[in-house]
Amino acid sequence: MHPRLSHDLASLPAVLESTRSFAVRALAGLDERPVAHGPTTSAPDPLPVDGVGFDGALARFAQRWEPGFSGSAGPRYLGFVTGGATPASIAGDWLTSTFDQNATSGESSAVDLERETVRWLRELVGLSEAHSGTFVTGATMSSFVGLAIAREWLGERLGVSVADDGVGALGDVVVLSGAPHSSVYKALSMLGIGRSRMRLVDVVPDREAVDVARLREALAGLGGRPAIVVANAGTVNTVDFDDLRAVAALRDEFPFWLHVDAAFGGFAALSPEHAHLVDGLDLADSVCLDLHKWLNVPYDAAVQFTRRRDLQVAVFQNSAAYLGVPTDDPDLFHLTPENSRRLRALAAWFSLTAYGADGHRDIVERDIAAARRLGGLLETIPGVRLLAPVRLNVVCFAVPGDATAAVEAVRDTGEVFLTPTVYKGQPALRAAVSNWRTGAEDVDRIFAAIRTALGSPA
Ligand SMILES: *Cc1c(COP(=O)(O)O)cnc(C)c1O
Repeated sequence: MHPRLSHDLASLPAVLESTRSFAVRALAGLDERPVAHGPTTSAPDPLPVDGVGFDGALARFAQRWEPGFSGSAGPRYLGFVTGGATPASIAGDWLTSTFDQNATSGESSAVDLERETVRWLRELVGLSEAHSGTFVTGATMSSFVGLAIAREWLGERLGVSVADDGVGALGDVVVLSGAPHSSVYKALSMLGIGRSRMRLVDVVPDREAVDVARLREALAGLGGRPAIVVANAGTVNTVDFDDLRAVAALRDEFPFWLHVDAAFGGFAALSPEHAHLVDGLDLADSVCLDLHKWLNVPYDAAVQFTRRRDLQVAVFQNSAAYLGVPTDDPDLFHLTPENSRRLRALAAWFSLTAYGADGHRDIVERDIAAARRLGGLLETIPGVRLLAPVRLNVVCFAVPGDATAAVEAVRDTGEVFLTPTVYKGQPALRAAVSNWRTGAEDVDRIFAAIRTALGSPA
């Protein structure tokens, strides 16, 4: 064994202990860490030849990289829809690496742990047993898998197999949606369907929710040809929701696969006051749910749910003599693009076991309350205008002057991080509250920082 490796093996408890102390300091110091940094440049190190051992590597990391890491795990990072990581989920994530299970086939109880976690998540967001689920890395992969099953379903309707004969066997594919997330276009590109197959359907005026009457007209115009509809449960700009029940009801008249992007909006189901927003979610043929956002588990975690596991296996099966053929409860490598992969469910299992549905409901409700409070405060700044009501956990607002400059000025306070957007042609800022720690005091600190960055007197 290489001497540095055998040294680290002999001192494994010390390696883990130093890592633990380092992590404790990092988490305890979140409050002082700048929430985000501007762009940096640094010359790359050459490939280490001798290596410096673990202690040397930790020192190098602490000196060279860690100071530039953002405070995205903390309560005042409001960019994208970035969640943090609950204490139990961090522990679960550490143990995932510790046990290093290949969670794809049944020679370990790890696969059953993953199946249990998927069942819990299904119940958490109100899906019925008709849905089966599989862990993937994020919502983009979840929608990719859902739309791959949709593609196979189109083949079934047209009497061809896309899995065997390729996407060309389908001819032109029509995809309809009101305000699809950019990841849907990416998935369409990866699937060989093509980005340009997306036909945008009008949304309700002043909303991002699809106009169901216009969707009906678009479907009627297809002359009975099966299509794919992507409905939205929580858009990133204004957290708007399609009327899922009304959209699903159109299937009585027209053949289409209904995929719902509920990446973070699906968590509205946890709050009794907001659960109506996802009414009808269970009627979807496939559902995308992100976990590294509002479940507050570390990256990378999401689930893909579907009612047609048979078609999922048709697309993703990996049959080799040494892997065996898929059964009714297929090994996980028959269900997603990955073959080998980590036990991605463990962090979510830990968090759900530690805090339960009730603890996670509390996270969602506190974030919603924080977003509302922030929205109310921002409106008191002269010239600031909310572009939509705060429906859930995002405040979308326009500022006087240049929005990009405002995002940078806010970031440079080190106190808070927001991301820019364009909503109905209007450059704007988004503040997405998705962290389990964010409380009223954070909101006041966020507000003060934004007010200062915008040059508005207190
Ligand atoms: C974040 C998000 C995605 C993409 O999720 P990733 O985990 O980054 O792949 C897709 N749809 C919606 C609505 C999102 O908010």
